[in-house]
Amino acid sequence: MSLSPTPNHFIRQIVLDDLASGKHRAIATRFPPEPNGYLHIGHAKSICLNFGLAAEFDGRCNLRFDDTNPAKEDPEYVEAIKQDVHWLGFQWAELRHASDYFELIHRCALRLIRDGLAYVCDLSAEQVRDYRGTLTEPGRNSPFRDRSVAENLDLFARMRAGEFADGSRTLRAKIDMGSGNINLRDPALYRIRKVEHQNTGDAWCIYPMYDFAHVVSDAVEGITHSLCTLEFEDHRPLYDWCLDHLPVWDMPELKDELDRLGLAPGRPRQIEFSRLNLDFLVMSKRKLLALVNDGLVAGWDDPRMPTLRGIRRRGFTPEAIRGFIRNAGVTKQESVLELSLLENEVRNDLDARAERRMAVIDPLKLVIRNLAESHEELLTMANHPKDESRGTRAVAFSRELWIEREDFMEVPPKGYHRLVPGGEVRLRGVGIVRCEAVIKDASGEVSEVHCTLDETTRHGMPGADRKVKGTIHWVSAKHAIAAETRLYDRLFSVADPDDDQDGLTYRDHLNPASVRVVTAQLEASLANVAAETRFQFERLGYFVADRVDHRADRPVFNRICTLRDSWAKAGGK
Ligand code: ATP
Ligand code: MG
Repeated sequence: MSLSPTPNHFIRQIVLDDLASGKHRAIATRFPPEPNGYLHIGHAKSICLNFGLAAEFDGRCNLRFDDTNPAKEDPEYVEAIKQDVHWLGFQWAELRHASDYFELIHRCALRLIRDGLAYVCDLSAEQVRDYRGTLTEPGRNSPFRDRSVAENLDLFARMRAGEFADGSRTLRAKIDMGSGNINLRDPALYRIRKVEHQNTGDAWCIYPMYDFAHVVSDAVEGITHSLCTLEFEDHRPLYDWCLDHLPVWDMPELKDELDRLGLAPGRPRQIEFSRLNLDFLVMSKRKLLALVNDGLVAGWDDPRMPTLRGIRRRGFTPEAIRGFIRNAGVTKQESVLELSLLENEVRNDLDARAERRMAVIDPLKLVIRNLAESHEELLTMANHPKDESRGTRAVAFSRELWIEREDFMEVPPKGYHRLVPGGEVRLRGVGIVRCEAVIKDASGEVSEVHCTLDETTRHGMPGADRKVKGTIHWVSAKHAIAAETRLYDRLFSVADPDDDQDGLTYRDHLNPASVRVVTAQLEASLANVAAETRFQFERLGYFVADRVDHRADRPVFNRICTLRDSWAKAGGK
């Protein structure tokens, strides 16, 4: 990663000010995913922001699972999220769950009831909606709003004891049904939900609502800066109302439980930032799930998916993702970033780090007539043109080679600088060959090109510097290893697949050429590489040994990206 100073942004400035003024001696942040799906590249922004600030300012960042919605959550997602955060390069201070705090949150609810700030309401969901009012009309008070503290305590205890059916009662904050902010119109704090929870089993049949659980969790963990996306801006008054009435750092009834959990509470501040959106992708969990369930992709880790698992399997590096997010900055302005910027970040990172190899993805046989049938030699090639420390490797060279079919043309267009009948080209690391004959199969397709090698142009010979226009790569046919190679491209062929126009949906914009599977011929040094090792296949792009399917005896490579942005020219078509 580059060592240039961290670009400043408004949240970082708030942190700097809070540290300078002594408001906080150290900062604490958290990344709070709901374990109801896999993380995607959008989440990476929140991860980099929260963990990045904590790391930069010697603070701490927790990974907290916001698991207040037991019906939709799954331990499989919990494991995957932990792995993905690690893979991005971050380590949490503490691993927590909102459900770890169910007892604390419950005691906070009791405090609100005792203070006359919360009541049990018997309205049905539909009636609650009806009483709530609209953006332009105030709401009406629930008929249950003026229940006594004693009655509320009794009913809430019976809710908890499981006496009432799901949905029959809620605990609501008593704030202001006339507020211009609908979130303050007596929002629900607890609901009845008789389902097993992945973490607490059947210990509870009432569950706190997201907003209530979130603010209490932040406060009991001593989070100083609670960073969230812009859609929570309207929830901030409720967040602050809760903190005003629940000074968890000063509530004796919480002490034993806080001590048991080793928590040092404090008052957090919520700050909102805009989401990361990327063109040529969809990010909504619902749409990603549909792609998986309908078999339009091979799974959550399909290398075309914007999930972190997919991006990882595709071969993108965590360094490139972090660099991309850092360059994108943090603001309150909604914007859509270009996927090509992320791809460029990947190219730059891999250009510096990936070793070079030769591979042919669409093989055509080239025979060097003036070499003996038995000719075999080992050429020494640099593993990286700009980094000598990466050393060299031996590459087998012999009479029969594979070259890329598109590197030969019988009838070339103007400006074609590769091999043509009677023409010359440089074989990378070897010397100059001239095409003497073209052999065709029964169908008329070119099956072999026969050449002579100009021995005077070989390494160390007087003609070694002789110039020809084109240089092509090759692999010795006798020594090559065949490998399944998956040529990936963008999953969608339009910049805004979410834009449902003319009756079309994102499903109509899938790129039909987003994957092509070929058998490539690889230089022998690519045998036995570890899964997830990345290379530049010269002139073709960056490739990675597939993390799932690659085996030493059955190599599988994925194309990460081409060497240049092929979409820029095509105008995204
Ligand atoms: P849902 O689609 O269910 O609303 P979500 O995408 O908000 O889910 P969460 O698990 O709630 O997923 O997200 C965890 C954190 O990541 C939240 O703080 C959320 O604001 C943040 N986050 C989610 N999507 C993005 C995004 N595109 N850009 C930046 N942050 C995001
Ligand atoms: Mg969410």
